[in-house]
Amino acid sequence: MKLAVYPGSFDPVTNGHVDIIERAAQLFDHVIVAVSKNSGKKPLFTLEERVKILNNVLVQYKNVSVDSFEGLTVKYASIKNAQAIIRGLRAISDFENEFQMALTNKKLEPNVETVFMMSRAKWSFLSSSVVKEVASLGGCIEEFVPGLVEKRLKEKFSNQK
Ligand code: ADP
Repeated sequence: MKLAVYPGSFDPVTNGHVDIIERAAQLFDHVIVAVSKNSGKKPLFTLEERVKILNNVLVQYKNVSVDSFEGLTVKYASIKNAQAIIRGLRAISDFENEFQMALTNKKLEPNVETVFMMSRAKWSFLSSSVVKEVASLGGCIEEFVPGLVEKRLKEKFSNQK
């Protein structure tokens, strides 16, 4: 069975992420969307909230599951017996970091491949941070995120006022 892990913060999941997941699910038998605890950044949504939102948004994809992990992505992929780590590539700015990370991961776990998928042009400008910023300033994010995410973002920012 060809298994892939798609790791990220998903704080929150955007249409750009969903597009990568949908396409990856056509290439692999199973895709685990793995939410990282990401102690470095202060997330807007808790780990539990991010996992719950993803489970809701991805319910129609039968060969996709959602999990969370702490520590090295490549170790997590290896424990899960995944052959690949999926990463989405947007503009050139993603490239340098991703290239460095992929080479480091290959050293740590030679059996796990990193597979890059180009963002669809439509979503190549989209990031969770931009969505959060627009939402926090009261802008319309309907086009960029699943309906549930729009709702949860509105709730978050109305609670903060
Ligand atoms: P991380 O903090 O690990 O970058 P993110 O949740 O921001 O986590 O992103 C997870 C993955 O999804 C990364 O590979 C990122 O490049 C990719 N990604 C993010 N936004 C998009 C998008 N709009 N189109 C395609 N891939 C994306």
